[in-house]
Amino acid sequence: MPSPDAPDRAPSGDRLGFATRQLHAGDEQHGPHAPRATPIYLTAGFEFDDFDQAHGRFAGTESGFSYTRVGNPTNAAAERRIADLESAKDALLVGSGQAAVATTVLALVSAGDHVVAASSLYEGTREFLRDDLSRLGITVDFVADARNLDEWDAAFRPATRLVLAESIPNPKNDVLDIAAIAAIAHRHGVPLAIDNTLATPYLVRPIEHGADIIVHSASKFLAGHGSVLGGFVVDAGTFPWGDHPDRYPQLVVDRGPDGRTHLERAGATAFTEFARRVAMRYGPSPSPLNAFLILQGIETLSLRVKHQSAAALQLAEWLEKQPGVASVDYSGLASSSYHPLAERYLPDGQGSVFAVTVHGGLEAARVFQNALQLFTRMTHLGDVRSLVLHPATTTHVGSTDEQRAARGIEPGLLRLSIGLEDVEDLIGDLAQALEAAASARLLTEAGLA
Ligand SMILES: *Cc1c(COP(=O)(O)O)cnc(C)c1O
Repeated sequence: MPSPDAPDRAPSGDRLGFATRQLHAGDEQHGPHAPRATPIYLTAGFEFDDFDQAHGRFAGTESGFSYTRVGNPTNAAAERRIADLESAKDALLVGSGQAAVATTVLALVSAGDHVVAASSLYEGTREFLRDDLSRLGITVDFVADARNLDEWDAAFRPATRLVLAESIPNPKNDVLDIAAIAAIAHRHGVPLAIDNTLATPYLVRPIEHGADIIVHSASKFLAGHGSVLGGFVVDAGTFPWGDHPDRYPQLVVDRGPDGRTHLERAGATAFTEFARRVAMRYGPSPSPLNAFLILQGIETLSLRVKHQSAAALQLAEWLEKQPGVASVDYSGLASSSYHPLAERYLPDGQGSVFAVTVHGGLEAARVFQNALQLFTRMTHLGDVRSLVLHPATTTHVGSTDEQRAARGIEPGLLRLSIGLEDVEDLIGDLAQALEAAASARLLTEAGLA
């Protein structure tokens, strides 16, 4: 939502480099005191000048803020910045990554409709699609092997309204062929939404490869410091909603109090405008304080992600050579079957979340994880601190052994999220934890433990 009468301070657009835009894109001058940092407009609502202005703001005939659940200048600054970095037309900030996923899905799908999704999705998203949407009469088909394009193609039905996948799924860093899946989705007249949380727009901008919608958990790399939650819904502004009035009547047919459809009112950004209404009605509002912290995080995004990706590659290469390690899943490794996709989509780094599987199964994973001293045992990703988690007993505890096996979530697999510590210190920590796991295994094999 544009803030009223605010002059643009900084130019934005593809002419400037990423690091410049992460600092300046969407910046506006705020009021007579001209603070350089974006002010935190910690207010529930905004005064109306007069009777008619109140009506105009509610009827949508006049831009400007009314109530923070509907829009807020601090939140709007974060929205403009991520839209610019993702090469998008518009964006919406909500209270969490899950809220971004839910808002996107609820904006596009109605009872009786169908969603096609990658089975490698973040477990919270997968469970939302599987357990919660079914209660609303919405069905989902999960594509087991995201590299099998025939499987994607076969999953579509006449009722399909959305395709959802992640650019870099966790924990296995199995890079998605965005352009191929976008082409299939478009052939079926359906938009592709990409969760770009683990890649961030620094590593890949899915819209440039054909995606229509981006969702983010801003709680991860964007905020970066593990202190707040937030989520973005980002709109490429290119999907031809108007070609499908039967599929998306909420955008193309239904009329608002001003007598116009969302498409007539907002044009290319009709989806974001409607998603804004969904968020306003369901209510996952972000705090302007969180929006400020996310903006501040984004200011150093490229520096952190570049360093963290390089460190992750170094650690993955080191881990791969250790005798206690059964396998390392990281697309940056030449040995990875996802390396060709990484070279195509992620030439500047493959992110810093990957999996290492230790020899000795669950017990070895337990000893290894408990022995780590620098890595924090925590369910989070993209923090400045390095984190470790055992997916089989935490994020994927709701799956059966069979389902976990099908997705390669072995009992000995640990998920690492590499932070900004000195790489030598992280190697030292991993080395002593691998030694602890090896000693425990020897004792067990000798029948001494
Ligand atoms: C964390 C995460 C989410 C959910 O985000 P929250 O901010 O925790 O609600 C969604 N997708 C991916 C890929 C994530 O990593």
